[in-house]
Amino acid sequence: MTLQVQSQISLRPYNSFGVDVRARFFADAHNESDVREALAYAAVEQVPLWVIGGGSNLLLTRDVDALVVRMSSRGLRVLSDDGESVVVEAEAGEVWHPFVLWTLEQGLSGLENLSLIPGTVGAAPMQNIGAYGVEIKDVFAGLTALNRESGELKDFSLDECAFAYRDSLFKQQAGRWVILRVRFKLHRSVSLALHYGPLQQRLQEQGVSEPTALDVSRAVCSIRSEKLPDPAVLGNAGSFFKNPLVSAELAAELKQAYPGLVAYPQADGQVKLAAGWLIEQAGWKGFRDGDAGVHKLQALVLVNYGSASGAQLLALAQRIQADIAKHFRVQLEIEPNLY
Ligand code: FAD
Ligand code: NAP
Repeated sequence: MTLQVQSQISLRPYNSFGVDVRARFFADAHNESDVREALAYAAVEQVPLWVIGGGSNLLLTRDVDALVVRMSSRGLRVLSDDGESVVVEAEAGEVWHPFVLWTLEQGLSGLENLSLIPGTVGAAPMQNIGAYGVEIKDVFAGLTALNRESGELKDFSLDECAFAYRDSLFKQQAGRWVILRVRFKLHRSVSLALHYGPLQQRLQEQGVSEPTALDVSRAVCSIRSEKLPDPAVLGNAGSFFKNPLVSAELAAELKQAYPGLVAYPQADGQVKLAAGWLIEQAGWKGFRDGDAGVHKLQALVLVNYGSASGAQLLALAQRIQADIAKHFRVQLEIEPNLY
């Protein structure tokens, strides 16, 4: 027995919104054997098991009557290296940003645009994390997950993960798989994704004309630090809504009514609208109701000024959804995982 289970624990330190709810049971899982022990413990106690990482994509609206298991496994390794392509593997509990820095230190490119995203490696496939034009599907080489029902291990290929915009098989089948370790195919040669305007602009401002992967990482970190609230200072879960995909017809109508509309045509004919722009346009930026609010610098981010409950944050989100539907005929979808 290595699993240390605690009872009636506040989850406030374990979610980046800083929402104060209690978990009936809580434990850290340092390896696969701990996860299996936790499953057995939950079965005996007749409670569900709920796996979390850094808690940076959660909105907790009530006490959690479950065994909450925080993935705390560690380990980084190079699996293969042909001089150009390098496959690296990280344990689920590794913290994402230090992992990205480790790959850059090895002289590898591929993850630089995903710098400074909070959370763990194991949660990254859940919503196919993405930023500045790169998603993990672009560098994904496989993962190993535990099937909670059968207890079997399964290696997933890229195709089997059904990655899509902020989505995956693991999100669709929430609670079925525990992701244990993830593999990435990275490169020694530099092939950078620089098509996002703010990234190009920041590199120019910094006087970098031939950027390395490390330069891109630094530029991403500097933009993010200016624009996004640090959860250690102000509770938040990053973007609270997904950017909506709408028909080309609706996008054209909206563009006529709102010439400043931020819209990006997609390969499939749909158009992605910047949800933050819609929310700002509707007047919500900087709005505050008690301790629940909309961030002053980025309207896509809901914030907890101190003691907002998950229910208060959710109520604010629902008011924004209704208002955006009324103004723009666009339904915003909540991005964080609700409990
Ligand atoms: P958690 O919040 O702990 O969990 C998220 C979900 O994954 C839950 O459903 C949980 O049950 C499940 N889960 C966690 N670990 C495992 C596992 N090992 N096996 C199975 N299921 C698991 N996201 C982006 O995509 N792009 C961004 O640029 C971005 N920027 C952000 C900026 C800020 C300031 C914040 C606060 C959040 C941001 N996010 C972003 C959201 C968040 O950081 C990511 O979704 C991150 O991957 C969540 O990791 P986590 O370990 O905190 O997951
Ligand atoms: P931004 O640069 O102000 O851009 C606004 C939106 O326009 C972004 O959401 C982005 O969509 C889209 N966009 C910008 N340039 C684009 C291009 N060349 N092609 C297609 N779409 C483009 O956004 P931001 O809020 O500061 O965030 C910067 C990046 O970090 C974004 O990629 C964003 O997704 C990511 N981020 C994510 C979270 C989260 O919690 N999920 C939090 C903070 C930042 P996409 O979102 O689809 O990229």
